[in-house]
Amino acid sequence: MSNCLFCKIVAGEIPANVVAQDERFLAFHDINPAAPTHILVIPRTHFANAAEMAATDPVLAGQFLAFATNVAQAQAHGGYRVVFNTGPDGGQTVEHVHAHLLGGRPLHWPPG
Ligand code: 5GP
Ligand code: ZN
Repeated sequence: MSNCLFCKIVAGEIPANVVAQDERFLAFHDINPAAPTHILVIPRTHFANAAEMAATDPVLAGQFLAFATNVAQAQAHGGYRVVFNTGPDGGQTVEHVHAHLLGGRPLHWPPG
């Protein structure tokens, strides 16, 4: 999608600090980290949110979960949280599905 920030990162038009990638997915550091480990995981293909990805391509959605949790296991040894902010009340600001991988400190519950 031409006007999508994360599609531009996939295309290499905007730089990102990439920690892992394969032919389907990209993982890179969040520009404004909320925890010592804060990585974003995205599919290279554009979907607006997790529900749209799961409904359109459930196989890819499963592969996404496997990829994201592999990155989290490698990067956050004390445990981690995987978050899909979805929609305005969910706090989603970039409408290209992304998982936040958060770790490196104790995380409070419930989140704000
Ligand atoms: P959301 O609010 O949609 O759940 O998460 C979007 C995330 O993208 C935010 O945590 C924000 O810091 C991050 N972000 C926004 N713009 C950029 C950017 O240009 N590069 C990177 N690496 N992260 C970004
Ligand atoms: Zn996109």
